[in-house]
Amino acid sequence: MTIAPLRASAAAMNRSFPLPAPMRRALDLAAIAAESGEVPVGAVVTRDGEIVAEARNAMRGQVDPTAHAEMVAIRLAATRLDSPRLDGCELWVTLEPCAMCAAAISLARIGKLNFAAEDPKGGGVLHGARVFAQPTCHHKPEVLSGIGETEAAAQLQAFFAARR
Ligand code: ZN
Repeated sequence: MTIAPLRASAAAMNRSFPLPAPMRRALDLAAIAAESGEVPVGAVVTRDGEIVAEARNAMRGQVDPTAHAEMVAIRLAATRLDSPRLDGCELWVTLEPCAMCAAAISLARIGKLNFAAEDPKGGGVLHGARVFAQPTCHHKPEVLSGIGETEAAAQLQAFFAARR
């Protein structure tokens, strides 16, 4: 089975300019991550349009290889909502989630995943493991990519360029 994620069209992005507030916030969190020496990725969980939790990459700061922005935001949202299931929630993240985070999104039963830039090297949604397309994946969120991708890609390029 293949998934057919929606892509934000140029027209749709023009209509939604400025960016949806949660993605705007996720991009700002990614910038904060970069200032701390973390790969710039930010994530926000919303429910009914309200921000429930937000996080940015913290692998170095927390000395935790699993402290990806999405993982930290999902854990925080579950704590705040006092439920291991985030039914009806949306996740907004600046980079295509990796396979670990995609699995966590499925386990959390997040209803919709919105991400900015695609990640051909490390992504697990449209690339690599394509977690949501596997028969062992029992909850597949709606997926929308491309919202804010220009800014997200620029953040990542600037971060890695400064480290070469
Ligand atoms: Zn991840």
